[in-house]
Amino acid sequence: MLAQEYKNHINGKWVVSRSGKTFSSRNPANGELIGTLQLSDAQDVNDAVDAAQNAFEKWRKYPAPKRAELIYRVSEVLRARKQEMGELLTREMGKVLPEALGDVQEAIDMAMYMAGEGRRLNGMLVPSELPSKWAMAVRDPLGVVAAITPWNFPIAIPAWKMFPALVCGNTVVWKPASDTPVLAERMIEIYEEAGFPPGVVNLITGSGGVVGDCLVAHPKVRLVTFTGSTDIGRAVSIQAAQNLKRVSLEMGGKNAIMVMDDADIDLAIEGIVWSAFGTSGQRCTACSRIIVHEAIKKELVDKLAARVSKLRLGDGLLATTEVGPVINNKAAQKIHEYTEIAKQEGATVLIGGDYATDGELAKGSFYQPTIFDNVLPTMRVAQEEIFGPSLSVISCNSLEQAIEYNNHTNFGLSASLYTSDVNRAFEAMRDVTTGLLYINAGTIGSEVQLPFGGTRGTGNGHREGGGPVVLDTFCEWKTIYVDYSGRLQRAQIDTDTLAGKIK
Ligand code: NAP
Repeated sequence: MLAQEYKNHINGKWVVSRSGKTFSSRNPANGELIGTLQLSDAQDVNDAVDAAQNAFEKWRKYPAPKRAELIYRVSEVLRARKQEMGELLTREMGKVLPEALGDVQEAIDMAMYMAGEGRRLNGMLVPSELPSKWAMAVRDPLGVVAAITPWNFPIAIPAWKMFPALVCGNTVVWKPASDTPVLAERMIEIYEEAGFPPGVVNLITGSGGVVGDCLVAHPKVRLVTFTGSTDIGRAVSIQAAQNLKRVSLEMGGKNAIMVMDDADIDLAIEGIVWSAFGTSGQRCTACSRIIVHEAIKKELVDKLAARVSKLRLGDGLLATTEVGPVINNKAAQKIHEYTEIAKQEGATVLIGGDYATDGELAKGSFYQPTIFDNVLPTMRVAQEEIFGPSLSVISCNSLEQAIEYNNHTNFGLSASLYTSDVNRAFEAMRDVTTGLLYINAGTIGSEVQLPFGGTRGTGNGHREGGGPVVLDTFCEWKTIYVDYSGRLQRAQIDTDTLAGKIK
């Protein structure tokens, strides 16, 4: 059977690219063709941005609670299709089905949360220093938002961006990752079914170098919300600065789990396995370093290696699979290059360290869960994002040293501490400099009601993913003063209201 050809979605219509070219999306577990997509060009981007700009004038005036009802409707349709979308997610991206269903659930959660925000969108109302005067600030939408998203959370991450953008009254042009475009197409069908007006949500597929680049450069795009690698994020930021447009960046990580000598070791191992090898290590919050107290290192490493050696690789749709493929062969090659780098740097490959090619695995892009021992905190494998099932073990002699190693990378997304000492937990809460910190849990597991994001090379100060602060990324603040005294009142000058002048 021929795979379906999908189209761009511009101004409420499904249209082919003006380029006349297409590309394909394949299952990383076995090469199955998932779909054929439009390889769009600059003209398609212009069409989509124009549609979003035209729709903006009406959409921004549509009351926020009504905008929110449409978002809530998306959550209902998505919930009804959760299983179907989860299975497609496993086929197109590779993560095992329970994680794929979690990815979809996160979008449902975000839709419900942002639908609630439609009846709040809190502004500020504060006392004026002058009598008979109101002082307040309200949220205004920005205009056209370009959402550029990665493949590793192909449903959840776009939801983090698009629902807050939309509830605030912005319109959206979405450019999904080229490894997971079919999921984006199916998601747009859900927006359509929910009843979004034409032009409010537009979809353009195609390469980052063309579609992404044109969106970032486009003068009518007011905000670029980007999640992806730090190198591309930096380039996006530099280019967007030419037009002084707002840019929200969520980028790479080099996250650590610190395990102290008083920790519950078995609990720590469960957290490490889940954080390092879940999603085949392809989460921005994945644990890629363990910083373990030297007094318990041997016990932890022995138990961990025994546990990891039993992990079952395979197609994520099979109930027996614990670790799915990595996204494509290029990613597997990059992971293997880091294994070679680890060896050259003097680390020991404790387990794994090669492509996984047994039986059916040979048809896909699989890499063995890998642990490097005797890693120094300055080695490249301890500093650079590998984005695969590769874990470095670093030893430390105190909590202070663990935190120092944790904080000294160019990234700052997530960290975790296993300890049974409440004082140590609070020291870490004070001194760890990542955007997320977990105590006695792994490095992954964010919930939509709190901010998500990182410091240093992980982000540029904005937060996405949740909590009310996310609205600040997608709004302009407009401050309004209303003087109903009927006379000229000068702030900072006519302030002597105690001398009988209050009217
Ligand atoms: P990526 O290669 O940087 O791509 C991300 C997105 O940017 C894709 O849609 C890509 O399109 C597009 N793009 C590529 N070149 C571009 C350009 N010149 N201008 C504009 N857009 C461009 O990252 P990825 O491999 O998809 O994702 C993995 C990375 O994302 C990791 O570093 C991971 O840590 C990070 N991540 C961070 C978070 C977070 O919240 N901090 C969450 C998830 C992932 P194409 O697909 O067409 O190339």
